[in-house]
Amino acid sequence: MPRRHERARERPGPAIPVERPLTATPAWAQAGGAIVRAVTGEKGKTYRCPGCQQEIRPGTPHLVVIEEEDVEARRHWHTPCWKRELRRRGFTVA
Ligand SMILES: [Zn+2]
Repeated sequence: MPRRHERARERPGPAIPVERPLTATPAWAQAGGAIVRAVTGEKGKTYRCPGCQQEIRPGTPHLVVIEEEDVEARRHWHTPCWKRELRRRGFTVA
């Protein structure tokens, strides 16, 4: 039985870029219905994270959270603190 020709090897598609811009908001961060923006924290301003009461130093990428019930207030959260907060509120965060 003649060996069948193998099909030309399928070339892998373009690789999905691993790097993402720092300003891309992670999908999990919006679990609570809040508007969440990832920022690079390069404005030279120090914020206080409501989650841990620690400072968010300039240059630290973090999240700006605008909650539906309090759209006037923009709060700056450490990314892991916001994740913990969502979990605390009962959201499933990947
Ligand atoms: Zn924090």
